[in-house]
Order: sequence, then structure tokens, then C-alpha cells
Amino acid sequence: MAIAIRRSSNGKIATPPALATIAPVALDHEQVVVRRGERSGLYSVIAVHSTVLGPALGGLRIWHYPDQGDALRDAMRLAAGMTLKAAAAGLDLGGGKGVICAPPDGLDGAHRRAALLDFGDLVESLDGRYITAEDVGASPADLIVVSQRTSHLTGLPPDRGGSGDPSPFTAIGVEAAIRACVAERWRYGGLAGRTVCVIGLGHVGAGLARRLADAGCEVIVSDIDPGKRALTDALGATWREPGEAMLTECDVLVPCALGGAITADNVDSLRCEVVCGSANNQLAADSLAEALAERGILYAPDFIANAGGLIHVFMELKGYSEEHAVELAEGIEETLGRVFAVAAQLGSTPLAAARELADRRLRSALRD
Ligand code: NAD
Repeated sequence: MAIAIRRSSNGKIATPPALATIAPVALDHEQVVVRRGERSGLYSVIAVHSTVLGPALGGLRIWHYPDQGDALRDAMRLAAGMTLKAAAAGLDLGGGKGVICAPPDGLDGAHRRAALLDFGDLVESLDGRYITAEDVGASPADLIVVSQRTSHLTGLPPDRGGSGDPSPFTAIGVEAAIRACVAERWRYGGLAGRTVCVIGLGHVGAGLARRLADAGCEVIVSDIDPGKRALTDALGATWREPGEAMLTECDVLVPCALGGAITADNVDSLRCEVVCGSANNQLAADSLAEALAERGILYAPDFIANAGGLIHVFMELKGYSEEHAVELAEGIEETLGRVFAVAAQLGSTPLAAARELADRRLRSALRD
């Protein structure tokens, strides 16, 4: 079974009756396809938000959604975020996202392989308008299976001709973003001596904590996985229990775990001057950008700060050069500096300014 929404040339969108029952979602996407896999019987969703700047790139999320409408909404929301991220980072890419709706008891073995092959067929059917990569729940091994059905993918392991793990580049970009925040907030000095609290010591957070320690920061770290505590000594860092980490007194709070770290419940209790991390969708609601500004806390929009990984996979499409990927990821410092300047000009939050910067680029591409 396949459901497809596609914006026609006059911009109007026809919503098939089957989708009318799904709760409201901003439907400004170019194309959304939902298909039940012939092999696996599982639904896959691909949302192409925009191809104005280039093919829509965004990872494959393999996740169980109790309500399959949530899978659709998630793919559409994440695809729109990818459009902003690529536009703001100056990349010639659009925004897209893929989802495989996993069963509640997990997706393993032959069933997983069947779902990945189905997903590969769906990617291929879009003829390059959408390029897939790895995201939450998917592994490099999964991408290898997808590659049996489509060549429209990036981020394969190096021994398969890809550029490998993007996380170190995300960490380089977040460090660059923290430098921009420090320059904006304190107007002097660099990272040395600043207290940073890195929450989530995963692929990005662990490498970032190491980089910040090397740059002379006082590093506090936290993770819900007690096994990560072993990293603390190696980093010369201080451990904070996860329940307390968000309210740690520090210069820079660095959320590197899951989204929704800043909520209406904790925003008034934060004891930091800056929030700048890698996690996607750090604000549980956009209105929290204003709440942070009212408290005098400088917030680095996540889609600006965490673009290093996207830059890395983009470079793979263009002919990979590690040196150039590092240079572009370091460029996030300048991009974020521009965001803060536009925010000051417009009297807006950095989040609104970052959206405006991305929109300007999209509007100008539409005019050309
Ligand atoms: P990961 O799964 O490797 O690491 C996440 C870590 O956070 C894990 O160690 C986990 O135990 C910990 N964690 C989860 N909930 C926590 C909590 N409440 N408190 C403390 N620790 C908690 O993920 P990752 O690849 O390092 O990505 C981290 C974040 O950055 C994610 O939000 C991801 O979407 C975002 N991101 C990652 C990349 C990348 O290149 N990997 C790029 C852009 C954005």
C-alpha cells in the first residue's frame, strides 16, 4: 500500500482521505510518501520537505511509534528541520527524512533486513530527490543493506566507500559554536577556564568533552549510563548524576543526549549563561527561546550548532576531503556569530534569527 502527497506545480496539496484523520502537522512539504513494504509488511515514510537548494538529505530513523500518525509527523517535522539546517550551513542540500515503523518488540534478523530492503526500494523510487543516511535506531550495517536497493545514500562505512562516522565532525562544529557563544557573551577570552557541563557522553558528547578539556575548560559530565562514568577520570572531569545535571551551575550547558532537554518546568531553574549542544530539538517548545532570552541565557539554535555531521556527509557527496570537512565544521563559529548579529539587528531571539537566515537563503534560491 502506498500513500503519496505531492505538491503540484501550482503549490496546492491534495490530501488523500486516508490522511485526514491524522492530527494537524505543518504540511508545507514537497512530497511525502508512505508505503507498506512488500517483504516486511512494515510501513516506511519518506518526507521530502524541500529540494530548493538541492536533493533532500536526512537520515533513516528506525523507531516504534505507538500511533503510526506519529511516524508521519516525526518524519515531516525532522525533514523540515533538515531544510533549515542545510540552508543555514550554506550547503546545497534540501531537507528530508526517512522512517521505518518498527514493531513494539523490536526489529531484528530477517525481518529487519526485509524492512531495510523495502526502505531502499522506496528511496530508489524517488529518483535522487531524497538521499538517506544514518539516524536514531539505524546503524552503518543497516545502511549497507539499504545500499543493495539504492545508491541514493551517504555515510557508509569507509570500507564500503563512505566517509564513516559523522560524530567527530558534529563535535568539532559544536566546539566552534561554543567559541562563538563565549565571544558573544563575554566579549573576551576563549574557552580556557570556562565551566562546561556536557550532558550525554555518546558518540558526540564524549568526543566533545575531550575537545573542551583539551581547550582548557573545567568539564562537568553526566550520562544516564553509569558505565560512562569511567570517562570522567580520563578527561580530568567532574561527574554529575543525571537528575542534577541540567541544573548544574556552569558557564555553558551542553545538551548532547536526547531532544527536549529545556522544558517549561526547568527553564526558570537553569544556572548557566549559555546553552549550546549537539542534541536535536533541545527546546521542548519554540517559545522557550524567548523564555531563555528573558532570563539572559544565550541559546545557540541546535540546527546551527550541530550541523558538522551534515557537513561531513555532504562532503561525501561532493568528493570527500577531511581537511575541507573540518574547515567547514569550524565555520559554524562564524555562522553562529552572524546569527547573533542578525538577532541583535532584528531584536529577536537567536532562534528566530537563525530561521530568518535560512529563509533568506531559500527565498533567494527561489528567486534565481
Ligand atoms: P548517542 O546515542 O551516541 O549518545 C547519547 C548519549 O546520551 C548516550 O550515552 C545516552 O546514555 C545519553 N543519555 C540519554 N538520555 C540521557 C539523559 N537524560 N541524561 C544524560 N545522558 C543521557 O547519540 P549521539 O550520536 O552522541 O547524538 C547525541 C545528540 O546529538 C542526539 O540528540 C543526536 O540527535 C544529536 N546529533 C548527533 C549527530 C551526530 O553526528 N551523531 C549530529 C547531529 C545531531
